[in-house]
Amino acid sequence: MPDTIIAPASAPGRSAVALVRMSGPHALAVLKSVFQPKNPQRVWKPWQLRVGAIVDASGRPIDTGMAVWMPAPNTQTGEEVAEISCHGSPLIVELLLKAALAHGARLAEPGEFTRRAFLNGKIDLSEAEAVSDIVASETEASLAAAQRQLSGELSKIINDMRENLIDIAAEIEASLDFADDDVPPVDAEKLKQSLNQTSGEIADLLRQAIRGRRLREGARVVLVGRANVGKSSLFNALVGAERAITTPHPGTTRDTIEARLDLQGLPVTLIDTAGIRESPEAIEQYGIERTWQEIEQADLILLVLDRSMPLVDDDQTLLEKLRGRMVQGVGNKSDLPPAWQDEASWLSVSAQTGAGLRDLEGAICQSLAGEGALSEGALVSNLRHIQALEQAAASLESARDILANPQQLELAAADVNHALAHLNAIIGADVEDEILNRIFARFCLGK
Ligand code: GDP
Repeated sequence: MPDTIIAPASAPGRSAVALVRMSGPHALAVLKSVFQPKNPQRVWKPWQLRVGAIVDASGRPIDTGMAVWMPAPNTQTGEEVAEISCHGSPLIVELLLKAALAHGARLAEPGEFTRRAFLNGKIDLSEAEAVSDIVASETEASLAAAQRQLSGELSKIINDMRENLIDIAAEIEASLDFADDDVPPVDAEKLKQSLNQTSGEIADLLRQAIRGRRLREGARVVLVGRANVGKSSLFNALVGAERAITTPHPGTTRDTIEARLDLQGLPVTLIDTAGIRESPEAIEQYGIERTWQEIEQADLILLVLDRSMPLVDDDQTLLEKLRGRMVQGVGNKSDLPPAWQDEASWLSVSAQTGAGLRDLEGAICQSLAGEGALSEGALVSNLRHIQALEQAAASLESARDILANPQQLELAAADVNHALAHLNAIIGADVEDEILNRIFARFCLGK
């Protein structure tokens, strides 16, 4: 029989209210030892909130709170669950935990509640991971993506693909097992089409995954240009106009500065870089190298030019060098008389007056969203899922190549089974304990 586990479900520290949660076969028994309802003669009814006294290990009242008991199996973990809310004092929480431990409960490991929900079949692995993504979401778009995953949308797609692959594997194996009987030979063309369909679906998911990664980790948007075009002013204007997710902090060197922003729902890391020029003084060299490193890692480059000054060679060289990258041209200082005409795709802004900033934000979001609206989120963002999908795709490709040669059907079946194993890993069918340990260790305590 599993232990009864207990942990605070609310954040550590002082707060108005704290919530302590228990799950396991003795949840009600432990609850009864640490919580004395106001009307003790009444029996505990499921899902009923009761007021009462919370007592410490020696039975002394330490707080007044509320408690609820939820019997198995219709609970989040699938086990008997009890929750106690008390005043949000770390001392009360600690005394309450100690009392529960004295009555046979055990302190939960990080993620153990969600792990039990998974082990009891309440959610599959991708849904369990979505729980931790929901808690970690910084913007509305990343929250929407995590919620889609928790609702089982990804699981359904993966399950449909598995069904298809199981059919294919079964068909190949039947023809191998009964080769001498009168079973018709496999229709390689039909199987190939089936494999192509699944490969296509995997490719779709992987395309979305780029967007998913951006939703999860934030896209890197880098301000690039020569000195004095107004990069820092633009950086400050964009940071000032939006909700900074964390306070701006200096980059790893004094030459780049970055800030995390919520840009119309999309988490973005905005990076200001050292001004680039062709033949720098030695002292500038280092900053310029850093700038190129940032450009390498960027999801989007904002190439800033000064509209009030004629373009110079350094601007042209930069334009040339950034060819092939995702670049948005920004003509700054639109409040001054222009020295040149904008190209159609360029945006004209003034960091000083704020003119054009909303359009610039819109353009950034649009470039980063790629195909499909960002509000739709993306179903795949988790690196583990991305790797599993890539491996499944590689196995399917190999299976398709082998199908061309009927002598090697056995190998094709093995490839299809490999692909299946990779898809299984996403939803947690047949995954090893070690992988589960790694996934659930990332959860916070009480989840
Ligand atoms: P950086 O070297 O590219 O980071 O440029 P800065 O942000 O330091 O700006 C260089 C100079 O241009 C400063 O004197 C700014 O006040 C000025 N500046 C920046 N943006 C604007 C703008 O939109 N309009 C005007 N008139 N001046 C600006």
